[in-house]
Amino acid sequence: MEFNEFRKFAHELVDWMADYMENVRDYPVKSQINPGEILNQLPNSAPSQGESFEKIFEDFQKIIMPGITHWQNPNFLAYVPANSSPPSVLAEMLTATLGVQCMMWQTSPSATELEERVLDWLKSMLGLPSEWSGVIQDTASTATLCAILTAREKLTNFEINKKGFDTNKFAVYCSTQTHSSIEKDVKIAGIGSDNLRLISVDDKFAMLSDELEKKIQKDIDRNIIPLCVVATIGTTSSTAIDPLCEIGKICAKHGIWLHVDAAYAGTALILPEMRWMIDGIEYADSFVFNPHKWMFTNFDCSAYYVKDEMALVRTFEITPEYLKMVVEKPVKDYRNWGIQLGRRFRALKLWFVIRTYGVEGLKQMISNHIKIAKNLTEKIHESEDFEIMAPVVLNLICFRYHPKKIKDDPQLNDLNQQLIEKLNKTGKLFLSHTSLNGKYVLRLQTGQTFVTKEDIDRAWELIKKTVLDLT
Ligand SMILES: *Cc1c(COP(=O)(O)O)cnc(C)c1O
Repeated sequence: MEFNEFRKFAHELVDWMADYMENVRDYPVKSQINPGEILNQLPNSAPSQGESFEKIFEDFQKIIMPGITHWQNPNFLAYVPANSSPPSVLAEMLTATLGVQCMMWQTSPSATELEERVLDWLKSMLGLPSEWSGVIQDTASTATLCAILTAREKLTNFEINKKGFDTNKFAVYCSTQTHSSIEKDVKIAGIGSDNLRLISVDDKFAMLSDELEKKIQKDIDRNIIPLCVVATIGTTSSTAIDPLCEIGKICAKHGIWLHVDAAYAGTALILPEMRWMIDGIEYADSFVFNPHKWMFTNFDCSAYYVKDEMALVRTFEITPEYLKMVVEKPVKDYRNWGIQLGRRFRALKLWFVIRTYGVEGLKQMISNHIKIAKNLTEKIHESEDFEIMAPVVLNLICFRYHPKKIKDDPQLNDLNQQLIEKLNKTGKLFLSHTSLNGKYVLRLQTGQTFVTKEDIDRAWELIKKTVLDLT
């Protein structure tokens, strides 16, 4: 492709992108494609001769777009948001154009130094301890894996990195509501999922610290070493908040690494009135939250903080001859701060986003999302035939349809499953579900970048209308 062609197509694409962002509400939120439908439209082998951009873009619209679920549609109410925003997209255009590899300082000093600065900004925006060090990871799954590995190495004086496992003698603790990535990380770290202790929760789905303490003591009595506790601030099912202070005291008493998973809810800490969620943060050894969820920074961008920078770096550091370099001052080589060697220039989009909206602008957007959720929560409370199933702390509502005449849970589960299928088929919104105490529960989050109260009012009207057709 010649540069003059690139210029022409790029201008066309930017127009397409702006149109898409402006009109994304009109797209069916959830793709209605059947498995294999896209695959079957794609040739079995790569073209031997180059094709025109016009043809490629035409196929993008014809073949690819129907198989897209529109996460940036404000009626995307499922899972957790994976927000993008105009400044974030602009930064990604530059990132792709520069195409730099940010594995170490000299491979792009700006990338390293901007990452350090922006993560310091975020740290103070969220009210995290000022002495912590931050690094961007691809995902929270990876960040938590780094936490468990660093905990393992620090405890064993970096022995397992060198000699491998002898016999496993560690345990990791989290609540029954913890994200599935913790179990995956425990498997990868060689701890073994049998040694992941799931602690029961209270009626708000928060970890019971008494039970944590009991399970820890039981392991100690059996010569199993408690390695790490993962406390969740904002569980995936219902945004429950584990009692960090109580958990922290237990960890401090036994010398256990405390990792805080705030992947989704962490963004809300920019609101001082939400900082109660991290009372006890001073006990934590590591903390992760994803700007790529609720902070308007498109996937991927996960902010990971540690108290002991040296332990992290010692866990991952490795320097073959071809990566050795001589610099006058000590610099940060982020390749030693995690699993990846090659790293994307992710700090740029965070910088664009934070500067475009400003801290005050971000606070307003986040508190507006919470307000929209509170508003719908009241309506659900007032309605006869629906019920709220977990405390609404932030912008996620867990609820279900429950007509008075039906008492039996299996029947209600069935009914709510029918409801969600019907709703998602309309293409007008997209909800997901979870299970709380064995009950099938609908999840609705109001965290998309441009979601408005009107969008959610319309969603509520559609939900109320749709239940009339259920059998
Ligand atoms: C989303 C989420 C994760 C996983 O995040 P990834 O960045 O996709 O790995 C982990 N924990 C919690 C609480 C989450 O909400």
